[in-house]
Amino acid sequence: MTQDRWDVVIVGGGLAGYVSANILGKAGLKTLLVEKANKVGGRAKTDIVNNQYLNIGPHALYKKGRASSILTDLGITITGNAPKKNSIIIYHDTPYIAPFSPKGLVQSKFLSWNEKIEWIGILRKVQKLQSGLFSHKTFQQFVEETTNSFKIQQLLYTLGRLASYSHAPEKISASVMLTHIQLGMGGVVYVDGGWQSIIDQLHNQAVTNSVQIQTGSSVKHLNAIESGEWQLKLSNQETILSKFIIYTGSPQALNGLLGVPSKKLPFNQLEPIKAATLDVALTKLPNPNNLFALGIDEPYYFSVHSNYARLSHDGKSKVLHVLRYHHPNAHINGPDEKLKLEGFLETLQPGWKNYEIKSRCFPQITVNCRLSKVGDETIFSRGLSIAPGLYMAGDWASPYVMLSEAAVESGKQAALEVIDKETGV
Ligand SMILES: Cc1cc2nc3c(=O)[nH]c(=O)nc-3n(C[C@H](O)[C@H](O)[C@H](O)COP(=O)(O)OP(=O)(O)OC[C@H]3O[C@@H](n4cnc5c(N)ncnc54)[C@H](O)[C@@H]3O)c2cc1C
Repeated sequence: MTQDRWDVVIVGGGLAGYVSANILGKAGLKTLLVEKANKVGGRAKTDIVNNQYLNIGPHALYKKGRASSILTDLGITITGNAPKKNSIIIYHDTPYIAPFSPKGLVQSKFLSWNEKIEWIGILRKVQKLQSGLFSHKTFQQFVEETTNSFKIQQLLYTLGRLASYSHAPEKISASVMLTHIQLGMGGVVYVDGGWQSIIDQLHNQAVTNSVQIQTGSSVKHLNAIESGEWQLKLSNQETILSKFIIYTGSPQALNGLLGVPSKKLPFNQLEPIKAATLDVALTKLPNPNNLFALGIDEPYYFSVHSNYARLSHDGKSKVLHVLRYHHPNAHINGPDEKLKLEGFLETLQPGWKNYEIKSRCFPQITVNCRLSKVGDETIFSRGLSIAPGLYMAGDWASPYVMLSEAAVESGKQAALEVIDKETGV
């Protein structure tokens, strides 16, 4: 029986897989992308429901990040706007103006005047510091060494959650967290059409460059064979051969695909970052003044994304996201999470259910496949190759960044490493 032979098979059609596919396609390598879902995009997909564009939870692209510049270099056009900085914070059920903008700082009653002066100094310091110097510390250690003010500590944890989605300051590396806070300070964009608009452009370009896309098939086994190639077994019983594989699924699933004992790979101890989200479309906002809010003592996020990006067919409805950041040790009860998210929304938009077009809840979704811990850099000390011809990419496959930054950057790097090997450059 003849088997399909490829230069590269990419496992997964999310951001990382599609960035790799674009680079490999342009380089002329015979490339197949296999995606287990029927629709491509992974966690960057946008569902169109009742003419509303719902990202999977709130998605904001760092304006000054590597992801944005790599996507632009690949010819992807990203339109949308930055949310305004007027926001509220909620502490012990009481709303305060957030001291996150010069005007907010003056008006906010959350901090005393002395604390405000200290807070400005800390923000300036955080903006300028070299985040890499803090790779031996957790973010909690950094915060506790930076200020004795309990409220300023809480503000730093809140900014950290916002920038990284991590609610475990005692675990996350200060260096990665500070990098993401700095990226967040550089501003973000809510994307017109949702993140699917990025995926669709990447998909079309990949197809134009002769990359073949196969959806609805899952890769079940990866075997290194004697010829030096890789043999992939798919869920549809197909077997294919490839010189190289770029794997972009979760690190935890990789052991199973390789059929090796989990202890042999450094990825089995990696913990994901999880959250609960409530994605909502309304005909109107009961309180149009409340557009952005963060919990201080409770780990909540709320933002009306459609005020800054086109997120419905007619552009008239309101699409918003509520999110609750999970601690890795938290025990999650799905129905409770939904009630909590709905309750938080009720405090900001009372009576929102009267205007509901659509709402949906993911009580426990993986936001990032790896919570970056102190010392994680060693996992990546040998680049993105795990075994000869097998490369990893994805939001977990970068030592210094997470989220789309890591997915896009590692997708590019894995493709370049494959091209180097193939062409001997
Ligand atoms: C609620 C939420 C909010 C977020 N907000 C932001 C944000 O504001 N900013 C930001 O930068 N990032 C954000 N992210 C993170 C961002 O969406 C992800 O980091 C990024 O989309 C990950 O891309 P990826 O390609 O690494 O992984 P994925 O998108 O997970 O893609 C991997 C793909 O591989 C497929 N796959 C897995 N195993 C197999 C297999 N064996 N065979 C075939 N296919 C397989 C999966 O189906 C999936 O489609 C958010 C994520 C969530 C969930």
